[in-house]
Amino acid sequence: QKAIAVMTSGGDAPGMNSNVRAIVRTAIWKGCRAYVVMEGYEGLVKGGPEYIKEFGWEDVRGWNSDGGTNIGTARCMEFKERWGRLLGAQHLIEAGVDALIVCGGDGSLTGADLFRGEWPSLIKELFENKRISEDQYTKYKHLNICGTVGSIDNDMSTTDATIGAYSSLDRICKAIDYIEATAYSHSRAFVVEVMGRNCGWLALMAGIATSADYILIPEKPSSSKDWRDQMCDIVSKHRSKGKRTTVVIVAEGAIAADLTPITPDDVHKVLVDKLQLDTRTTILGHVQRGGTAVAFDRILATLQGVEAVNAVLDSTKDTPSPLIAINENKITRKPLIESVKLTKSVAAAIQAKDFKKAMDLRDTEFVE
Ligand code: ADP
Repeated sequence: QKAIAVMTSGGDAPGMNSNVRAIVRTAIWKGCRAYVVMEGYEGLVKGGPEYIKEFGWEDVRGWNSDGGTNIGTARCMEFKERWGRLLGAQHLIEAGVDALIVCGGDGSLTGADLFRGEWPSLIKELFENKRISEDQYTKYKHLNICGTVGSIDNDMSTTDATIGAYSSLDRICKAIDYIEATAYSHSRAFVVEVMGRNCGWLALMAGIATSADYILIPEKPSSSKDWRDQMCDIVSKHRSKGKRTTVVIVAEGAIAADLTPITPDDVHKVLVDKLQLDTRTTILGHVQRGGTAVAFDRILATLQGVEAVNAVLDSTKDTPSPLIAINENKITRKPLIESVKLTKSVAAAIQAKDFKKAMDLRDTEFVE
């Protein structure tokens, strides 16, 4: 009987609870024991029944309607050190767990794959130091790992959507609708900063969905003109046609053609100085993360949770760790470490301002 543990790690995202619920219930349905690791990798490092808990069917009842993550998430520096992972391995073995599903971003999934790769040497060391018995050493020879991607930024390569991104997008659109009403009343301009780290997906999609006047994202900083002139031309044109509202969306990581960061204050200043618009700035902040998940994320997280358990049950010591993705509306399995590497290369290319390379990398397809 397999014992499958699930944890949420890194930044929280709406839909993580649906993922945990589906993993726990699918594991039990398939005759396995289900465990949750509380507080991400911190729970592995601390160990014990307070942090690695066996869960029953009822323990996840109603979780589809809960925002955030009920099993907690944390950043854990100790897990980046070998001694932290050694403790994690010991605690998993003590709890009797032999498979781990991690729902998190690229950092969390890198940690998971590293943990799996190191597992043989970790358990050897534990055995040699008499921290685990010979029986345990023989029984827990392999650790199966599987990743599901929880991130509001939709910034993971090889999957069309990450768990939480559509919920966050929905929240942003609602917030901009509210802003639009007050902007209309006073004929004002609003600069709205949205999250996304070095990915412009939230800003771009929110801009399309709310028909924003101008959108600034990290991936497309250059235009034939300086962004200030281009934005002012477009906004003036809209205003001249009688539009009473102006909304400019700025992604967290937006940059100009000269590769300097663009802040909401920069945009605000241009709208005031060049167009004399009565302007306000709204940084949406953590409301973008909070609240319940939209139906799409609940369904995505549920289907991916089921697939994650299936993938774990299909895994052998030689199969590479899978990442559960969605491509063209189908739930798919991708090689975890290649997906994470590709994601990191895209982020590095954007940081190095090599946008063509970033775009080419984003289009990379894996043939399974
Ligand atoms: P995200 O998963 O959202 O990208 P982080 O990058 O903060 O978030 O990673 C979450 C946690 O995953 C870290 O606090 C750490 O415990 C673990 N982690 C991240 N990178 C590594 C790594 N290279 N090796 C081991 N653990 C890691």
